[in-house]
Amino acid sequence: MRTLFRAAILNPIDAQSWEFLDDGGLLVEDGAIGTLGRFDEVVKSHPLEPIELDGVIVPGFADIHIHWVQHAVRGHYAQALLPWLATHIWPEEARYADTALARERAEMFFADCLAAGTVMGMSYSSPHPAAARIAHEARRGDWITGNVIMTTNAPADLTAASAKPPSDLAVLPDTIGRAHYAVTPRFALNCTARDLAALGAFARYQGLAVQTHLAESEAEVREVERLFPEATDYTDVYDRAGLLGPRTVLGHCIHLSEREWSCLAARGCWIAHCPSSNEALDSGRFDLDTAWRYKIPFALASDVGAGPSHSMLHVMQRFLSQHRAAGVHVTPEAALFYATIAGAHAMGRGAIAGSLSLGKRGDFVLMPRATRLRSPQAWFEDLVQGPMAELERRPLGTWIAGYPVFMNPRPRPSSPAPPC
Ligand SMILES: [Zn+2]
Repeated sequence: MRTLFRAAILNPIDAQSWEFLDDGGLLVEDGAIGTLGRFDEVVKSHPLEPIELDGVIVPGFADIHIHWVQHAVRGHYAQALLPWLATHIWPEEARYADTALARERAEMFFADCLAAGTVMGMSYSSPHPAAARIAHEARRGDWITGNVIMTTNAPADLTAASAKPPSDLAVLPDTIGRAHYAVTPRFALNCTARDLAALGAFARYQGLAVQTHLAESEAEVREVERLFPEATDYTDVYDRAGLLGPRTVLGHCIHLSEREWSCLAARGCWIAHCPSSNEALDSGRFDLDTAWRYKIPFALASDVGAGPSHSMLHVMQRFLSQHRAAGVHVTPEAALFYATIAGAHAMGRGAIAGSLSLGKRGDFVLMPRATRLRSPQAWFEDLVQGPMAELERRPLGTWIAGYPVFMNPRPRPSSPAPPC
């Protein structure tokens, strides 16, 4: 099965550069990228009738930290982290004991992700193992999911529903598949040191990804220090439990000491940087310069429902805006890289997804192009502008492995909606 697409194409290379083809040809063979180049050259070596697409192709987005069970209440509440969780989020997640509701919401979540151009990611489920299984069965795209482990400091219905380490751990990774399952302690405050150690041992033994939150708010950090007096700091709580390694993705990492940054670098951990969520909960700004200085790998994420939108265009908008306001130099090339290639690497899929390189899965999104495209940089700056509800619906189509999985049914927007 070979399909040749013709469109403008913007393909990220690294955090500093991308490749732009004004009239590009993209050949997808049996689901994988076969050739990418100027259309006239590609069609010469592959004389196929092309599918002509009016827009700009970019790789599908990866969102490496999203709570799919909070999607229906995303952006509804703004409060500091700890009261927000207890007042709004935990009661919402308790509803996912209802498997019919979970199924309906999972379908809505994945449909919305595809419409926004997100084709892969890492999601947090509720504590109910059945809801995580439902999310896995309903997934559209390439996802890693974990049922949050909450054994303490939470309402009884949630701790009762949570899997208990180590006895309850074995089943889900086998059912879901190890490549799609992440060991997911919600955060240190919801687990005992003993539970965390059991989770760390299990993840290492099974070779599983780990995802959790670290140092999102100052109040959270103080509470962790109170509950884990034996640990040097918050990062040490996870390190002692053996939870830190190259397959670990830590959400936020806003309030870290130099010792903690250095520990994360030594363990090779990934960070999920969630700028829109950090703004919504007033958690503080991720220290980009320090992450770069320690060469700690990170990728962008929405952190819905604290993040108000699952749109990675919106996340990139907030990434550029927030760090520029603090005087940090960030570019469109960096934003696109951290929303695509970096996310695929964080998931362990760097060799097979995240860009339009040869042999990778043919996952891409068609974005509207201006009639007069001044420069790829100017086009991209405009692409991520606008209210989030509009950004969630901006893609014109989404393809996975070369197959269309979403086509925007609305008429092409006219001025001032289109970028440029
Ligand atoms: Zn989160």
